[in-house]
Amino acid sequence: MYEGAIQDLIDELGRLPGVGPKSAQRIAFHVLSADPTDIKRLAAALSRVKEQVRFCVLCFNVAEEEQCRICRDPRRREDALCVVEEPKDVVAIERTNEFRGRYHVLGGAINPLEGIGPDHLRIRELMARLSSGQVTELILATDPNTEGEATATYLALLVKPMGITVTRLASGLPVGGDLEYADEITLGRAFEGRRTL
Ligand SMILES: [Zn+2]
Repeated sequence: MYEGAIQDLIDELGRLPGVGPKSAQRIAFHVLSADPTDIKRLAAALSRVKEQVRFCVLCFNVAEEEQCRICRDPRRREDALCVVEEPKDVVAIERTNEFRGRYHVLGGAINPLEGIGPDHLRIRELMARLSSGQVTELILATDPNTEGEATATYLALLVKPMGITVTRLASGLPVGGDLEYADEITLGRAFEGRRTL
């Protein structure tokens, strides 16, 4: 539609999740008319995120050091571990202020249709963490959709023989939805009302 750099930018923006062609065009023209210092700051933030952000060696949350902020915090409980699909779910649960334990980020959910099996997730690393014997409750906070439920069921079968209490967030979360879109109160209540599997 356009030529050169502006079309390149529209194409790149259009590849981002949740950005349709109209939004891509709007953002591109905003960039064109915006203050150069603002755009330099945006460009710097984009490159910095790829250079500096990595995954925590323990829980696979996003981190700027070897371990993430939560794993480095000595006040967090060692006996409760909450399993989530993505780092954004850690943020969602932290916002509820219901949980003072630690996390394990799987990096997705079991999805046979897309060829994602247990081996593609950080389940081996989870089992290694659980084998230390410090964790007494494992909270399965995968998304309340088909893939999230399948993952929770799979993990419950794997972990229960270890004598660890396995819990799942209570209902009340929108079925078929993403954890990150639940409001703090709903998610907080679901956390409080978690049930043993
Ligand atoms: Zn961590």
